[in-house]
Amino acid sequence: MYIDPHIHVTSRTTDDYQAMQKAGIRAIIEPAFWLGQPRTKIGSFQDYFNSLIGWERFRASQFGIKHYCTIGLNSKEANNEALAEEVMELLPLYVCKEGVVAIGEIGYDDQTKAEDKYYRLQLDLAKEVNQPVMIHTPHRDKKRGTTKSMDVSEEHGLDPSMVVVDHNNEETVKEVLDRGYWAAFTIYPHTKMGSERMVEIIRQYGAERIIVDSAADWGISDPLAVPKTAKLMKEKGISEELIHLACYQNALSAYGQSGQMKETDWLNPEPIDQRKKLSGNTILRGGQTPQIDGDSSSDIVEN
Ligand SMILES: [Zn+2]
Repeated sequence: MYIDPHIHVTSRTTDDYQAMQKAGIRAIIEPAFWLGQPRTKIGSFQDYFNSLIGWERFRASQFGIKHYCTIGLNSKEANNEALAEEVMELLPLYVCKEGVVAIGEIGYDDQTKAEDKYYRLQLDLAKEVNQPVMIHTPHRDKKRGTTKSMDVSEEHGLDPSMVVVDHNNEETVKEVLDRGYWAAFTIYPHTKMGSERMVEIIRQYGAERIIVDSAADWGISDPLAVPKTAKLMKEKGISEELIHLACYQNALSAYGQSGQMKETDWLNPEPIDQRKKLSGNTILRGGQTPQIDGDSSSDIVEN
């Protein structure tokens, strides 16, 4: 069993869901993020947040995957201050909803003044509602941005055990672990942080407080990055115990602190019945045979 605690399934296909389920992924966390094109109206945020707790959760359940999400104003769009103000008013309505396991992903992109302002406001919100935080660290000037993310979090009184710092690499991991944070690693195919490098990090640091995720989205990314990395770890002689921590248990321990994520949620899943509807809509298209657990005639044809 695996958990992918950072994946933007809104931009993925049903084939991905089927492949993920088959590869052993039982639960995922979808952080609220940037959609590739800046939003211009508050309603777009509202509909997006609603889809994270509504349709996407339903869609995942139809493929046997338990879906959770995080809610927040991403760093890129924090730079549209007029809109950011409105989003800040919206957030309290969502952060305590069922299945919301953290405030995130928040932090720095270009490390601007506006990003800093809304990062701080959201840290205060997280503290107020006692929710974990998922930090997106910048891809440019990463080392400095990561240090700053933690400095500011501490300034606002957050306990490092409630904060997951994501998108780490060899340059940032030591400081993040030394300061008591959860250190998440996004496995990007071909570039940056690949599975091979992840294996070396586990060799060097062990797996305590280390989390592996795919951050798969609309870009070149791999929704199977977690199971694939686990497989490589095994081939390279990493123990089952460490693999279990990095690819399952640590994510559950970190985000379980929200009180919204429990192993029993997916150990005793509701049977899949693709005839189900959400607000009148199913995942089925004209003439498709629904998968219904316990009904062998309904098996989906494999791609
Ligand atoms: Zn992301």
